[in-house]
Amino acid sequence: MTIDDLALPDCPDRSWTRRAIELLQGDRRRSADTHLLKPVFKGLKGISVYFKDESTHPTGSLKHRLAHSLFLYGICNGLIGEGTPLVEASSGSTAVSEAYFAQLLGLPFVAVMPRGTSKVKVEAIERFGGRCHFVDGAGEVYGVAAGLARELGGHYLDQFTNAERATDWRGNNNIADSIFSQLQAEPHPVPDWIVMSAGTGGTSATLGRYIRYRNLATRLCVADVEYSAFYEAFVSGDGGATCDRSSRIEGVGRPRVEPSFIPGVIDHMIRVPDAASIAAAHVLSERLFRRVGGSTGTNFHALCRLAAGMMREGREGALVTVICDSGDRYASTYFDEGWLAANGMELAPHRARLERFLDTGDFV
Ligand SMILES: *Cc1c(COP(=O)(O)O)cnc(C)c1O
Repeated sequence: MTIDDLALPDCPDRSWTRRAIELLQGDRRRSADTHLLKPVFKGLKGISVYFKDESTHPTGSLKHRLAHSLFLYGICNGLIGEGTPLVEASSGSTAVSEAYFAQLLGLPFVAVMPRGTSKVKVEAIERFGGRCHFVDGAGEVYGVAAGLARELGGHYLDQFTNAERATDWRGNNNIADSIFSQLQAEPHPVPDWIVMSAGTGGTSATLGRYIRYRNLATRLCVADVEYSAFYEAFVSGDGGATCDRSSRIEGVGRPRVEPSFIPGVIDHMIRVPDAASIAAAHVLSERLFRRVGGSTGTNFHALCRLAAGMMREGREGALVTVICDSGDRYASTYFDEGWLAANGMELAPHRARLERFLDTGDFV
């Protein structure tokens, strides 16, 4: 061995990676925590209802958290570097948030989405410099996205696989950590129920794991929609369950059981009819003086069923759910009379029932 053998190795330059992490940390530092809203429903005596409002993130939905985590995960695993083309399979919201972070880091981004995705989301992706690639069915997005990433020599972000593992479920300011710290000084700091719908299943996985990790008595209920494989999979235990129609509630309900859906941390599931989801979105929008999206309606409807169950047993306590995105994205669908009629959505009976429950506590 000579002194020359001790020359230090030439390592790959990591300056891009370090700059990228700095940019992601900056985005987080400049963001405030999202509100935990507590509207008063006068029929619900002894029951507190909270909404974690994820619509106020810079990119308009809870997917801002996921996109941030997926980028960190990709960079810290050496999968995303300078100039890496990024590809995602999405029903829209995730792609909007990912396009934002791709632009922040100066990376090309392509979203593979079903043709019916709301126009507002498509415009947002393009305004953030992303490209949209449309396919006919929700089930096609995975293969097309993976193929495109291979072709481009890029990275497939793959939210449906990576959502559950990219988020630090023990805390680190994840959505569960934030909810429970905001509840700390409330009359019922440990809610009876947290209700969440499932798209990737990632948020429910984080909530369920966190509840167990913190050893809380809270129950996790996942609300599913009409056209989705999750509910059947949960009830039957068959992870291979599928659904051959595309979900009509954007952001939730999937044709297959996504790898990020973790049934073992879910206490209960409720399937909500699509018309009931949309009716609940309308009712809640009126009570909050601003529009919420369809999946928030799914969450709210399931929450009301559980609240009614608690009242029936004379129990007091708290329930928490999530405002996943704003209804402004759905002006030409869930809030459009023509679209509702064309899709056979009769909201009136669902609305009347819910209004009555919120005002009197009677659920019939
Ligand atoms: C993704 C999404 C959900 C579901 O969240 P997951 O963590 O993916 O299960 C609900 N609503 C909207 C609008 C979404 O975009």
